[in-house]
Amino acid sequence: MSSYDAQTDYRVLIVKTLADRDGWLCSGCGKPLGISDAQIDHIVPKSVGGKTRWGNLTLLCRSCNQLKGASHVNKAKGLRNNPYIREDEEPET
Ligand SMILES: [Zn+2]
Repeated sequence: MSSYDAQTDYRVLIVKTLADRDGWLCSGCGKPLGISDAQIDHIVPKSVGGKTRWGNLTLLCRSCNQLKGASHVNKAKGLRNNPYIREDEEPET
């Protein structure tokens, strides 16, 4: 057997659906994507409660995905709209 399996098949299906919606472009840099270099990305990361739903999924190229994973810059900005996170809250004294 090769490494091809049902999980790979599922991933390809998700990539194709998102790419058809978003025009086969990277959401980070706008570079055209191919089926092999498109990376599925959670806009709100699963670690902070983001759901695996179409509205929370987008495609990134490999380099954008690596940048985002390394810096978490975009993810941190997304958190500012979360009502449960209060950066300006005063510490209790
Ligand atoms: Zn990109």
